[in-house]
Amino acid sequence: MLKINVIGAGILGLWQAYRFAKAGHQVHLLEKSETLFETASSRLAGAMLAPFCESEASQRDLIPHALRSLALWSEGPCDFESKGTLIIAPPRDRVELTSFAKRTIEHQHIKSETIAQLEPSLEGRFNEALYFEKEGHLAPRPALKALITAFRDLGGEVTLGFTGTAPKADYTIDTRGMGAKSELKAKDRALRPVRGEMVVVHAPGLKLYRPIRLLHPRMPSYIVPWPDDHYMIGATVIESDDEGPITLRSGLELLGSAFTVHPAFGDAKIIEFNAGSRPSFFDNLPKIVLDETHIFVNGAYRHGFLLAPLLAELVLAHIENGEPIEGLFQ
Ligand SMILES: Cc1cc2nc3c(=O)[nH]c(=O)nc-3n(C[C@H](O)[C@H](O)[C@H](O)COP(=O)(O)OP(=O)(O)OC[C@H]3O[C@@H](n4cnc5c(N)ncnc54)[C@H](O)[C@@H]3O)c2cc1C
Repeated sequence: MLKINVIGAGILGLWQAYRFAKAGHQVHLLEKSETLFETASSRLAGAMLAPFCESEASQRDLIPHALRSLALWSEGPCDFESKGTLIIAPPRDRVELTSFAKRTIEHQHIKSETIAQLEPSLEGRFNEALYFEKEGHLAPRPALKALITAFRDLGGEVTLGFTGTAPKADYTIDTRGMGAKSELKAKDRALRPVRGEMVVVHAPGLKLYRPIRLLHPRMPSYIVPWPDDHYMIGATVIESDDEGPITLRSGLELLGSAFTVHPAFGDAKIIEFNAGSRPSFFDNLPKIVLDETHIFVNGAYRHGFLLAPLLAELVLAHIENGEPIEGLFQ
């Protein structure tokens, strides 16, 4: 049994803590904030588990790893949905649908009748769509809670309000997100924030079952069903270290896109406007950076939920069996 410190309780840290505790190690999770998840960008994620849709904007090499990670979610303590993703575009932006189809794989081109079968609320609203059947999604905040509960049930220790020196351990796994920026600044390891803004609405008059992505030449967006008739509408992708609240323009565009998907969103109540930073490296892929017994796991960009289980598996295999870190994540 090894003594492991995990620093930072976002989605990456929670999966590391949970996986090492499950493997029988003595794990101490140390989080800076006094309240769990208060400062984690993970609480703002749509938490789509979308290896194929995300490959539209990232390396195709990532797909097999993302699929492995998606399978690992089903071995964890969180509920998740496997209902796929629907990609739609209004008729005037049809070219965007064609272009998205060319840039991705594993989708079906479906017509209005099939759209209505999958999403009865969208009946008659869109003539065609792309359906990525093998994708999933989850509710991020319940998932974070389920992971910390499972970790505690396995005997894991949690310290909140951590600011000092970590207790002595065999290994420290550093998952501080943007909190590690000052240490991760070498040329090919420079951490940068990519701003994401989002809105949460309550729309009991509507029923959507899976993430809906709306293509648009300037601002693509998505709607993710959250529990109890809540929907997360996201998200901007802005190269900026601005940590301030969402702008009026972004709020208008996100709400406008929801209204385009279905006018019933006009009667939804706005529950939350929010903005956060996605910790990212130059290639928008997460890295496992080894510094003797200090291991940084960071830079998850738009893929924190998608890849967290796999990153935990890779670090565990490295520490327990000396397995090398997969090239894409070095
Ligand atoms: C709007 C938006 C939508 C997104 N949608 C998706 C999506 O659909 N699917 C997906 O896979 N990803 C999505 N992401 C990306 C995902 O949220 C990130 O990749 C992920 O949250 C990064 O997790 P993390 O654990 O590295 O960082 P964080 O969640 O930021 O966690 C870092 C933790 O470390 C703590 N910390 C910092 N400094 C210290 C310190 N000195 N000591 C102790 N603790 C410290 C922080 O308080 C925080 O709790 C989205 C992101 C945003 C902003």
